[in-house]
Amino acid sequence: MIFSKKSEKVLPSITLEITSRAKQMKKDGADTIILGAGEPDFNTPENIRNIAIKAINDGLTKYTPASGIDELKLAVAKKFKRDNDLIYSNSQIMISTGAKQCLWNVFETILNPGDEVIIPKPYWVSYPELIRLVDGVPVFAFGDEENDFKYTRPILENVISPKTKAILINTPNNPTGAVYGEDELAMIADFARTYDLMIISDEIYEKFNYENEKYTSIANISSDSYNRTIIIQGVSKTYSMTGWRIGYAVGNEKIISLMASIQSHTTSNPNSIAQYAAVEALNGDQTSVKIMVNEFKNRRDYIVERINDTNILSCKKPKGAFYIMINISKMLGKVIDGHTINNSIDFSNILLEKVKVAVIPGDGFGVSNYVRISYATSMDNIKEGVKRIINFVKDYE
Ligand code: PMP
Ligand code: GLU
Repeated sequence: MIFSKKSEKVLPSITLEITSRAKQMKKDGADTIILGAGEPDFNTPENIRNIAIKAINDGLTKYTPASGIDELKLAVAKKFKRDNDLIYSNSQIMISTGAKQCLWNVFETILNPGDEVIIPKPYWVSYPELIRLVDGVPVFAFGDEENDFKYTRPILENVISPKTKAILINTPNNPTGAVYGEDELAMIADFARTYDLMIISDEIYEKFNYENEKYTSIANISSDSYNRTIIIQGVSKTYSMTGWRIGYAVGNEKIISLMASIQSHTTSNPNSIAQYAAVEALNGDQTSVKIMVNEFKNRRDYIVERINDTNILSCKKPKGAFYIMINISKMLGKVIDGHTINNSIDFSNILLEKVKVAVIPGDGFGVSNYVRISYATSMDNIKEGVKRIINFVKDYE
């Protein structure tokens, strides 16, 4: 059997793969600490769960419009007005099966073969693969660690080409935790205007913004940036609803309607019950979000301090999201039990094997001398995991 060239080229999501391998180890009895996939450990808040149960009992279990129910679009519009001072009408909003599907829909809609999309490096694992799957070309803009790996104008000018169709920003960023300030967003908006690019703004970590700075979306910068931006959002992270699979996209009406047509063939509608639950998530009491974000901030501070106490590992204090990139450069070349650590994959494999801690190798994000840990897990797990990591490296200091 000959399979499609695309399917043979696509790499599985390393974040999901390592996490499920570690979960299996745990199920088989190994005392494994999972600092892998970014999945909040909190339960979905009770008010949201109750609405889902009610939706089932009320028979709201049928197909919905492909682009989502009006109640949820209204809740999304209210969210953008309340949190971001942005106005979107019903026809500028669509609901999908997770932010991942929103991204897929956008790339399907805007890219022709060979069209380029600028993405940040380190990048979230799925961006390049999603772009390649629709025959687009990811172009990596590699920032400096001192500048939290963020885009600068010279970096962007260096990667622009006649084929560039869009620029993607992700703030707060996965995996770096970087948060773009208003001036930086204005620079990117100006760059997009100069070269007439679409902007895809992945804002899924909006609420995980620890320095109390007001969140600014690139769509806030000007009417020009508003018009050329598609915002990608979702309830997975903010409301600890990763398994419910609800994401949403807002922006240009024509693009949204094309995205909806594609989705009507690929999935019909996102899950009806989860859509009703998402209405409650966006409209209901937001206290649980504050509690969770506060707890995440404490976890971040704990890890950063411990890691920087070592002489061999280091990390910056991320401003947002729930990941920390640990610089493992000083471990490269070391030999452990006869295995040389040549890159982050070797480091992660040996760490998992020897001390049963699962982390994501930076190679999955395009950078070899880092590993990413997620602190969306309990403080007990974090304390034990960090202790094991530090014990693992201490002989090499
Ligand atoms: N964007 C980023 C940056 C992510 O880290 C994730 C991971 N979940 C997603 C989008 C997709 O989120 P979901 O499909 O769960 O809504
Ligand atoms: N986005 C999360 C992560 O980076 C969840 C896994 C995934 O979808 O990649 O860990």
